[in-house]
Amino acid sequence: MAETIVKIENLVKRYHELVAVDHFNLTVSKGEILGLLGPNGSGKTTTMNCLLSLLAYDKGSIEVFGKPMKPDSYDLKRNIGVVFQNVAVFDTLTVQENIDYFCGLYIKDKKLRRQYVAEAVEFAGLSDFVKFYPKKLSGGLLRRLNIACGIAHKPKLILLDEPTVAVDPQSRNKILQGILKLNEEGATIIYTSHYMEEVEQICSRIVIMDKGRNLANGTATELKQLIKKSETLTVEILELTDTQLEAVRRLNHVYDVSYENNRLTVQCSGGSHNLIHLLSYLQEENIAFGRVYSELPTLNDVFLEITGSELRD
Ligand code: ADP
Ligand code: MG
Repeated sequence: MAETIVKIENLVKRYHELVAVDHFNLTVSKGEILGLLGPNGSGKTTTMNCLLSLLAYDKGSIEVFGKPMKPDSYDLKRNIGVVFQNVAVFDTLTVQENIDYFCGLYIKDKKLRRQYVAEAVEFAGLSDFVKFYPKKLSGGLLRRLNIACGIAHKPKLILLDEPTVAVDPQSRNKILQGILKLNEEGATIIYTSHYMEEVEQICSRIVIMDKGRNLANGTATELKQLIKKSETLTVEILELTDTQLEAVRRLNHVYDVSYENNRLTVQCSGGSHNLIHLLSYLQEENIAFGRVYSELPTLNDVFLEITGSELRD
């Protein structure tokens, strides 16, 4: 068993009447990239702030590196790197000075610090911008600076709160690749996002969060196996009668069908060769068809089946 790095038990955080985090549980082991996936307002940032002891909570317990996390747990905090959702850098300091400032909160040795700052600059692809002030940076570069400030001191645990929101594709890829690299170098990572594709791309395990609760937890493959839907078939057909549509509905493993705008959509649960069975039926009935495709479930489908609403905004 890998070492437990974070353990959140029964966390409750209320803002007056609103329960932002509702008996939330989370365990993260050493070496994981844990994706905390939930729509806006689901409680991700609140959970992060409680985890960091930046926010007082109403109930529950939080341990980091096997010790209770408290506001004055500086020995734990020095091993944690945080990249906040809202960029938090000093406008009066250059890129280099900002990174040096944040690194200096934890690394007092000047020579080591110089080395760490240089590595963070390189890591974030900011070499050409070290003398720039934040106001002169594009949105993507600013995000990368924010990340460099959070990770320069080489923390063992890194929390990234929606680091790619409103970032151009090039910076976004650089950020995602960077997270994988930090993980390869030994950091355990908690990554919050409402972009399911990103979470699926980089996370070794995913927790689905909604209304402050932990609703499901597993690898992307495991989560998709939790739901009824296994495959969506789509076939372009110019004409289909109600009787034929009913016949499709009765095919093995089919649980839902619709026919709109010359497009037949068939939802299947389990089974194999669903597409072949559907196409054989169409052929038997002499129904001409155009484009055909099969889609596997996405994390949005998982979210939809568990909560009844869409993950996308
Ligand atoms: P997420 O990060 O997943 O978007 P948040 O943790 O920011 O979600 O918010 C969770 C819920 O708590 C939301 O309904 C939000 O409006 C509410 N909330 C967050 N911060 C505050 C606050 N300081 N005061 C009151 N309500 C808040
Ligand atoms: Mg948030």
